[in-house]
Amino acid sequence: MKTYPAEPFRIKMVEMPNILTKEERVEAIKAAGYNTFQLKSEDCYIDLLTDSGTNAMSDRQWAGLMLGDEAYAGSRNWAHLEATVKEYYGYKYVVPTHQGRGAENILSQIMCKPGSYVPGNMYFTTTRFHQENNGATFRDVIIDEAHDPEIDLPFKGNIDLKKLQALIDEVGAENIPYVCLAITVNLAGGQPVSMANMRSTYALCQKHGIKVFYDCTRCVENAYFIKIREEGYANKTIKEIVLESFSYSDGATMSGKKDGLVNIGGFLAMNDEGMYIRARELVVVYEGMPSYGGMTGRDMEAFAIGIQESVRFEYIQHRVEQCAYLGDKLIAAGVPVVRPIGGHGVFLDARKFLPHIPQEKFPAQTLAAHLYIESGVRSMERGIVSGGRCKITGKNHAPKLETVRLTIPRRVYTYAHMDIAAEAIIDLYKNRDKIRGLKFVYEPPMLRFFNARFDYCD
Ligand SMILES: *Cc1c(COP(=O)(O)O)cnc(C)c1O
Repeated sequence: MKTYPAEPFRIKMVEMPNILTKEERVEAIKAAGYNTFQLKSEDCYIDLLTDSGTNAMSDRQWAGLMLGDEAYAGSRNWAHLEATVKEYYGYKYVVPTHQGRGAENILSQIMCKPGSYVPGNMYFTTTRFHQENNGATFRDVIIDEAHDPEIDLPFKGNIDLKKLQALIDEVGAENIPYVCLAITVNLAGGQPVSMANMRSTYALCQKHGIKVFYDCTRCVENAYFIKIREEGYANKTIKEIVLESFSYSDGATMSGKKDGLVNIGGFLAMNDEGMYIRARELVVVYEGMPSYGGMTGRDMEAFAIGIQESVRFEYIQHRVEQCAYLGDKLIAAGVPVVRPIGGHGVFLDARKFLPHIPQEKFPAQTLAAHLYIESGVRSMERGIVSGGRCKITGKNHAPKLETVRLTIPRRVYTYAHMDIAAEAIIDLYKNRDKIRGLKFVYEPPMLRFFNARFDYCD
């Protein structure tokens, strides 16, 4: 039988959530318009909405907060963060931002213009928004298998080089400012990209004069998968693998709220000096001085320490294997989930879970609402509601993957919490026939999933 590593930490402080009754939860989700984003955090016993900014910091990071240098310019914590990013990620230049999307905004403004095409290994909501907002067209060049929840591949986040080549032939390399390569691929279920794929993507792009920018939000989880799955990496450290990954790129956007082990923060990094100068011009407009970019001094100190802690093997092993633990339990009970289990959570296959609800009635949204009612576990829709509408036709993007994401915050929950989530999902699966679909009551024009409201169809 597979065994799972015990928590590699001791608990020094605890947080006491409300544990509501089922009747109270029925009222709470109704008041939230059946949108889990609209629930109160304190009403969620086990909050698996996101792994973003929900990390538990270490005692060393909390101590780092006290070293915050809150000067408007030239903070020593920025010097520490900048040096840490250069050492661990290997880039020449770093521009701080308040979180990942701040970096995406600056990168997209510099690189994209009307007529540009930005290929990526599946889209991410805010990333694609900023590309399109600057006139570019996003093109998905991930391998086909990534859109099939059942195909079990070690590196299901890989770019399909034939698709990338076909796009270059179709629109011309001069219209592709950069390839956006996400490690890992969030919406595909936290699927990793192999080192070999990063290397060959970079080689193809260099041949055509196209830059490669990583969305490196979960680069440490990606490195763990490379270590355990890719030939030649078993004896390399996580730190070495992370550094090698970045050597096949020209820059990266980072959300520190994920693998940075902090609650807020991000950066844009690159090797090109001209681009760095341009990014420093823009950062003062949108984020703040290039020595804080929207972060406080103490945030930057905690972030620098978080980057160092994130590459410790026992930390990342427990983090990824804890997700596998939840996934393996569901698989053993026959619950349809995206395979293989990714690095930051478990994705339920809502199409298979609720086959009687068509995609236009939002099966994943419905399932997330019912999981909350059943158990107090908060999850997130990642399907047609998150997909949004096409800017040109106004039609819904109808993604093949219609999922409910159970994302596991880093260093926050124990295996016993995972058991509660698993048991509730298994119960719901047994009683799935009783669940009815939803319709929009309010649909926001942009990034609609955050604030949308729903009600039952009939
Ligand atoms: C969270 C996330 C972002 C955006 O980062 P924020 O810090 O939330 O702005 C970008 N890409 C991916 C893959 C993410 O998961």
